[in-house]
Amino acid sequence: MQFGRTTLSKFVIEQTRVQHAQLGALLIDVAAAVKTISALVGKGALSGFSGALESTNVQGEVQKKLDVLTNEAMLRHCEWGGQLAGMASEEMDEPYAIPADYPRGRYLLLFDPLDGSSNSDVNVSVGSIFSILQRSTAGDAENADFLRPGLEQVAAGYAIYGPSTMMVLTLGNGTHAFTLDRESGNFILTHPNIRIPEETREFAINTSNERFWEPPVLRYVSECKAGRSGVRGADFNMRWIASLVAEVHRILMRGGIFMYPKDNKDPAKPGRLRLLYEANPMAMLVEQAGGAASTGRARILEVMPDGLHQRIPVILGSRHEVERVARYHAEYDAGTDRPFVSPLFAERSLFRDESRR
Ligand code: MN
Ligand code: MN
Repeated sequence: MQFGRTTLSKFVIEQTRVQHAQLGALLIDVAAAVKTISALVGKGALSGFSGALESTNVQGEVQKKLDVLTNEAMLRHCEWGGQLAGMASEEMDEPYAIPADYPRGRYLLLFDPLDGSSNSDVNVSVGSIFSILQRSTAGDAENADFLRPGLEQVAAGYAIYGPSTMMVLTLGNGTHAFTLDRESGNFILTHPNIRIPEETREFAINTSNERFWEPPVLRYVSECKAGRSGVRGADFNMRWIASLVAEVHRILMRGGIFMYPKDNKDPAKPGRLRLLYEANPMAMLVEQAGGAASTGRARILEVMPDGLHQRIPVILGSRHEVERVARYHAEYDAGTDRPFVSPLFAERSLFRDESRR
């Protein structure tokens, strides 16, 4: 047992005490919610809360009992403190109004209370994701107040409930990870100033959607799969956990690229992940760790939202790889990945690589 290590409470109070004491208090409430959720999901089948409900959420997805319970945990832990003007969640169609009995503040909390919830039935890591915005005035938030680009986030983070529970946090000054000491109940700063390696040989994508991908994504993945014999001149590994939190956590710890790109499976859904409480907080954490996050055609943090539950393509991780995929999109859109070539050289030229790194 080491005393004097930095706890999450000490860290956020030190980071916020000059001007943003309310933000520090809010983050400590979020951490309390995370501890409650960690205890709940850690019980597994013994909790009696596994399995599906009859209901579906606003995205048309089957809600699980744990989705509803973890949503309640976030609301109850965070609504009372007087820091918030409102909350928005994956599990709620409309923003949540702070009850009349409680004071109002300037912050907006957006969250996915249980990410990867279908993984909880098979005892694979799940998580919670959150994003915090700041309004210019106090009072009750309206729907439009939440529709701000990710660059305006004042803090973002996620919790991962794996073999250990961790909370990964940014207040715009680096990305830092805390590990829950289950005996003392404290989150201890174990990974200050995380840096994502710029280079990687590991990619993550759901290849069952390959037939729906756009050409730039097909090009990138085929080059990775070609390995040492292809234009990349190196062998790549593939990972797919089907849990955004677990994928991003792996990338923060050891590098890699994660893609849930735009595809033509359902033209009404330009991507699968939600901008406001999945893509934006993860993009801020990844950028603060030296990585990059793109839709393929734009920096995620610069996208102006048009809906609370809007979906968006996500390509994030090691900077050089994300930049390469973005370049393939630009070349495809400009038609320059299909230069005129004689048929004799067509196959080689299609995947020609002029800037091997
Ligand atoms: Mn999710
Ligand atoms: Mn969820």
